[in-house]
Amino acid sequence: MDIATLTIDRVRAGLLAREFSAAELAGEALRFAAAENPRTNAYLRLCEERALDQARRVDQALARGEDPGPLAGVPVAVKDVIVTRGVTTTCASRLLENYVPPYDATAIVKLEAAGGVILGKTNCDEFAMGSSNENSAYGVVRNPVAPDRVPGGSSGGSAAVVAQGTAVVSLGSDTGGSVRQPASFCGVVGITPTYGRVSRYGLTAYASSLDHIGPFARSVKDAAVLLGVIAGHDPHDATSAAAPVPDYSAHLDGNVKGLKLGLPLEYLKHLTGESRDLLLKAVDVLKRLGCEVREISLPATDYAIACYYIIATAEASSNLARYDGVRYTMRAASAATLSGMYRETRGEGFGAECKRRIMLGTYVLSAGYYDAYYLKAQKVRTLIARDFANAFQQVDAVVAPVSPFPAFKLGEKMDDPLAMYLSDIYTITGSLAGIPCMSVPCGRTGDGLPVGMQILTRHFDETTMLKLADAYERTN
Ligand code: GLN
Repeated sequence: MDIATLTIDRVRAGLLAREFSAAELAGEALRFAAAENPRTNAYLRLCEERALDQARRVDQALARGEDPGPLAGVPVAVKDVIVTRGVTTTCASRLLENYVPPYDATAIVKLEAAGGVILGKTNCDEFAMGSSNENSAYGVVRNPVAPDRVPGGSSGGSAAVVAQGTAVVSLGSDTGGSVRQPASFCGVVGITPTYGRVSRYGLTAYASSLDHIGPFARSVKDAAVLLGVIAGHDPHDATSAAAPVPDYSAHLDGNVKGLKLGLPLEYLKHLTGESRDLLLKAVDVLKRLGCEVREISLPATDYAIACYYIIATAEASSNLARYDGVRYTMRAASAATLSGMYRETRGEGFGAECKRRIMLGTYVLSAGYYDAYYLKAQKVRTLIARDFANAFQQVDAVVAPVSPFPAFKLGEKMDDPLAMYLSDIYTITGSLAGIPCMSVPCGRTGDGLPVGMQILTRHFDETTMLKLADAYERTN
């Protein structure tokens, strides 16, 4: 069995045919991950005991003749911003270096109830702030496809393990592109579901009105299965939606004839080079499959970066206030006063990017500036959402680039935060609108760097999005 190319179906078939047990598979997958991880630094830690315990439970269910669930025995990796009971969860921050959560995120509970085996926790940008995974307190992640380049961010580790083959599927989080952009940089599938589709309970808050948990996989089908497992209403999350969850993989029939697709003029205006060529080629494939393609306009796009970095930093400054040296693990040792302890703990614990965002967010929320920045940004957010609502009166899906460029070199953008923020230009609009969006690989540049195509659909219409991505994937 080749661990690095396993699929969910292959694991299931192997277990049912008694070719291997879940415990054997977990042991093999843990060994492979430990051996391969030094190449990328994608895993921050493996949780051997938890993985083997869970695998044995799957084997027992199989022995009793029960259906062990849609993810039975499947090796899964989880971004280290999603809490796991008894397993250290750091958010790639010094501040949470020794934090062991007392509970599991809802997505984790569902994943294990479906038989999934969590191998370990993956590296990311500190508190999910970044586009390159270079803001981790525990070292950068290397792109498995091109080791001198970034894997994208902030869920760089979760994309890398799937590309590298050290997990079959993984969970990441996406606030402004952190699943889609690393998926496109590493050549894997990444889904940002509708806001509210997947419970955020146990996802460490960055910008609560934008945060999503989303799956990575090597195929659309595997990503669809994982999404189906983690989706659904959760009483622990007031923003989680009651909408019924379709059987996504049952809809992947390759038939996309007659679907209407929109290509946003504003996105294509600045897109150049091979990223443009590969996207347009993919659109041609969709046309050949029977889709109708037309140009559409999303006029508020120009304001998206400014709008996102006001709302996201405002929410972040508020969410990160809880890390004060009192409630979570790290506390500066030397401070003589209470306020000194707050200041020094936060000063030592947060990395530069988190501090930058806390300052920006505090500024835009301050009395006197609130109306000028935060309130205005909320209005712009409505305009961006309205652009999509208008587009979806004419088309069933929007097809777009994921990133203006493929994976860049490690260090290339670290001294220029604005250049780094601009790499989110095509992903933050979907996040601000709260609609489902995903990245599906659409080829490689001449240098062998993967490029992704983004597909966006109406609220709660993940089915159409996945159908399109799957039909496209079948042509490769
Ligand atoms: N790069 C964006 C940011 O730094 C998006 C991050 C994310 O989606 N978590 O905010």
